[in-house]
Amino acid sequence: MAPTRRLTGFKPTGHLHLGNLLGALRPLIAAQADTASIALIADLHALTMDHDPQRVRALTLEQATVMLAAGVDPERTPIVVQSQIPEHTELHYLLECVTGFGEAARMIQFKEKSAAGGPVRLSLLTYPVLMAADILVQDITAVPVGEDQNQHLELARTLATRFNSRYGETFTVPQGVRPDAAARVMDLAEPTIKMGKSTGTGRIGLLDPPDVVRRAVARAVTDEFAVVRRDRERQPGVTNLIDVLAACSGRQPSDPGSYGALKREVTDAVETLLAPIRARHAEFAVDPGHVRQILADSAARVRPRAVATVRRARSALGLLD
Ligand code: AMP
Repeated sequence: MAPTRRLTGFKPTGHLHLGNLLGALRPLIAAQADTASIALIADLHALTMDHDPQRVRALTLEQATVMLAAGVDPERTPIVVQSQIPEHTELHYLLECVTGFGEAARMIQFKEKSAAGGPVRLSLLTYPVLMAADILVQDITAVPVGEDQNQHLELARTLATRFNSRYGETFTVPQGVRPDAAARVMDLAEPTIKMGKSTGTGRIGLLDPPDVVRRAVARAVTDEFAVVRRDRERQPGVTNLIDVLAACSGRQPSDPGSYGALKREVTDAVETLLAPIRARHAEFAVDPGHVRQILADSAARVRPRAVATVRRARSALGLLD
């Protein structure tokens, strides 16, 4: 069997938050000793909705810097900016030629986002095909996906399989890896939705100063039961706080009857986790040229495989060398 090659993607549409750290970055860092992974900053995906060019550029660099600060070792886990590898977009087009219009239009995320009103970019419709290209171009075998990306991963698998059977063995068919449910961090103010970069208001940014973290936890929604226990149905807020405490510190709440004590423990645990990241980020941030060099080196390391994949796909489809 081929060795595992894993891809984790981040969209530079907002500041990285505690959910990104616990659900994506930490597993990536934990696996980097024995798994070939790529951390992809999917800047092209950030252009599928109304966007501010300066902000996308700044967030791309910030996300790379936060990844380094959190412990991603670019020697083992290249940090790749999607738009710096032109083969992603070339393969995107080639894959569009094996995708049905109806297949793309059926995607739930497209339906939801396009129903929100306002002009809809064509790239929003075709973005799952670009996501398929992101995966297939690097012969990825494993993609950690939450529920919201399941349908897109299925499309990537369908396209790879269809292409291989029509035009000859070209792509590795990737598997979805379901992340640990406990690593899913919910919004502190609306604990029935996932903490997100632009959804909800109860978010903890990885670079938030201690007083902002403290206030976000203090304002976290609880309930009237006054019992510290896990019950996702009836006590989603308290359950989330217990899970965050466990994920950050490995500890259980010390007082089963006090939400105040629980929140203090969560604040301390989060602060213990974020303080070193904040400090290392400050060190990296003084030299953005160094971070850009790391990105350039990462791109140079992964590009040959992308070039080889696109060459196979072009040839299979009948394009001249
Ligand atoms: P995104 O923030 O959508 O660009 O996602 C980047 C990575 O973080 C993906 O692997 C997501 O599954 C993961 N992620 C995003 N939000 C959360 C969350 N609230 N809890 C756990 N993982 C998350």
